[in-house]
Amino acid sequence: MITYLLKPGELTLKGENRREFEHILKRNIKTMLKAVNMLLVFRPGRIFLSCEEESHVQVESILNHVFGISGWAQVQSCEKTLEAMCHAAVMEGHRILAQGLRSFKIEARRTDKSFPVNSYGICCKCGDAVQDTVPGLTINVQKPDAVINIEVRESVFVYGKSVRGLRGLPVGTAGRGLLLLSGGIDSPVAGFMMAGRGMGIDAVHFHSYPYTSVESRQKVIDLAHIVGRYTLGMHVWLVNFAAIQQRIKEKAPLEWNTILLRMAMMHCAEQIALKRGLKCLITGESLSQVASQTVENITCTESTLKMPIFRPLIGMDKESISALAVRIGTYPISILPYPDCCVLFSPQHPVLRGNVTVATNYYEMLDLEEMIKNAIYQSSIEKCGFYD
Ligand code: ATP
Ligand code: MG
Repeated sequence: MITYLLKPGELTLKGENRREFEHILKRNIKTMLKAVNMLLVFRPGRIFLSCEEESHVQVESILNHVFGISGWAQVQSCEKTLEAMCHAAVMEGHRILAQGLRSFKIEARRTDKSFPVNSYGICCKCGDAVQDTVPGLTINVQKPDAVINIEVRESVFVYGKSVRGLRGLPVGTAGRGLLLLSGGIDSPVAGFMMAGRGMGIDAVHFHSYPYTSVESRQKVIDLAHIVGRYTLGMHVWLVNFAAIQQRIKEKAPLEWNTILLRMAMMHCAEQIALKRGLKCLITGESLSQVASQTVENITCTESTLKMPIFRPLIGMDKESISALAVRIGTYPISILPYPDCCVLFSPQHPVLRGNVTVATNYYEMLDLEEMIKNAIYQSSIEKCGFYD
């Protein structure tokens, strides 16, 4: 058996709600690790996960996908005596030396105050033991290459390097929202960020098959599978907008195409969200990134909505968004060259600062209500990223 120590993140700040947050975090980890035989124990400020040694790859991959944990480490546990702690620290010291590191310090944390030696005493005793027993490793309190952590609780836990967790809040603590998911770089990142605030995510993708390819549809499903691993799964509505795009092209001035298409997408997404009890819409828009995302055009696109719309990337530049996409794992798929429906009939010179009254007049003239209803009725649903 091996044991991991998990440090809960922001949920420790949640006062009254803490129990509920912990309960959801526990449920999420259990769901994500359904296939693994394991034991999960919550203690004040710490979570312990024990499993068979051969499950470590799977467990560590999940720990890197779960929101609500600020960090984790594989730990050794030992008896609650100074001798046992020194022995465990020395073993950790050998591991550090094997990694080519040369200096260390001990950080001790004594939650069990009945243990007669205080944190400082533990640090001194174990530090000396490591320095005397592991040749080539010396104490450096100011700037150590490595830290050996010792936690004295109901038992003693010793560990070296801890891995940074995703932080944020456990998915499922902040309702569910509907992500408008394109095949680009931004929208998968937007979904990931909202999940990091505890929101469950479903998604809708608009395509224009047969004008858009099967590959571009598959690309979106592949992206949803990756984001869905962080969100404990998501349903993806695939809605065909070919007829709606055709009507926009026929009835409105070309330079208004993109804004009117966005308005129709939002309108349709809101209908799906209302039907499914989802509380908000989420997009990957970032201010002034493209013509449709100027403040005036964003005002036009949301003007028919009653539901709140969240844009977690609004103040980020493309470089930071792309860096996050790399970290999440969506970037290599997002840059595959399969165009989505937005490029169809897109004008060379779009309106840059649309007027809301003009936009809503054109939009009403299009009379899309019935077509949107039909498009939803004919849509298909994919289950992506579920743990089963
Ligand atoms: P992305 O990388 O998300 O595609 P982008 O820079 O290409 O971003 P736009 O194409 O202007 O931006 O789209 C803005 C937002 O509108 C997207 O982030 C997404 O939330 C939504 N969106 C765009 N196209 C689609 C689509 N085909 N289906 C669903 N949502 C879409
Ligand atoms: Mg796009």
